[in-house]
Amino acid sequence: MTKRFRAPGRVNLIGEHTDYNDGFVMPAAIELETVATVGGSGWHSTDEPTGWTKYVEGVLKQLRQRGVAVPDVGLTFESTIPLGAGLSSSAALEVSAALAMLWAANGSMEKIEIAKACQQAEIETVGLGCGVMDQFASLHGVEGHAVMLDCRSLEHRLVPIPKNLALVIADTGVKHQLASSEYNARRADCEAAARKMGVSSLRDAATHGGDRRARHIVSENRRVLQFAEALAQEDRKAMGQLMAESHESLRVDYEVSCDELDAMVGAAQECVGLVGARMTGGGFGGSTINLVEAELASEFARQLAAGYRERTGIEARTYVTQAAAGAGPV
Ligand code: ADP
Ligand code: MG
Repeated sequence: MTKRFRAPGRVNLIGEHTDYNDGFVMPAAIELETVATVGGSGWHSTDEPTGWTKYVEGVLKQLRQRGVAVPDVGLTFESTIPLGAGLSSSAALEVSAALAMLWAANGSMEKIEIAKACQQAEIETVGLGCGVMDQFASLHGVEGHAVMLDCRSLEHRLVPIPKNLALVIADTGVKHQLASSEYNARRADCEAAARKMGVSSLRDAATHGGDRRARHIVSENRRVLQFAEALAQEDRKAMGQLMAESHESLRVDYEVSCDELDAMVGAAQECVGLVGARMTGGGFGGSTINLVEAELASEFARQLAAGYRERTGIEARTYVTQAAAGAGPV
């Protein structure tokens, strides 16, 4: 008998680089997902880039450290999430592996503890000091809802996404090499800014004190709260404005955008049905998130790919999706 567990990827609607500053983020789980099947021997995947088993080893180690007696377990992974496109295939891999291993061990853990164990696996495996957002979203997602997460208290609130809006994700097809070194550099900038202001993290900074990095974090935290309001009110104009401001702040103050992301966001402005567009994820490539009128979403995606091709010569991959349910048995 085999047992299968699914874990979705995620997209962040707003609240970028705020997670490691104890701030607010608003991801949603998406319909693309990874499925882990228990059975056989060894670990297999339909896609096996060099070093991929480290993620699974990391999860196994973290679970055992937490006292779960995971036996040697055969696992096969199948995923519809593009790897390395900023849609968190890594968290989906970790979370689906964790659920499968817990089942094989006859064990159970709170969702938040599974998220933290998977985050820790990624920190120790890849050496990227990531926040808990990706794993949290993969586990706590609810169909039709964004998950607003306070990264300090780890309390979350579900925010319904109007049913007539679709999430259109557009992968720029590029991932610049400096992504992870710049990520760690921004973290260090934020820690330095917080020290200078005498606060434990930029979450507590009331003003930005003239520091551009701090200005992004302080303003982005405010935008997440305002975006939750705008979604609840179905105020499309406010949603679009906040997403545009977020992108500008990431581009100018936080300096994590790139020509391709700017081109994709620029091209979106000329497409039918757009409510708002911004880069999503760490930056330096990866994807943009577009909120789009659902009935126009496939035409929007077609126009966006054409506009991006015109500007860059690159074929974009686009995904029309809705907010999906979090991880669990299939
Ligand atoms: P993202 O999480 O945005 O997709 P990452 O660089 O964090 O990008 O993670 C991608 C890596 O995770 C891949 O290079 C691979 O090592 C691993 N991975 C993710 N999903 C799978 C999968 N289904 N099968 C094998 N490896 C995977
Ligand atoms: Mg990842």
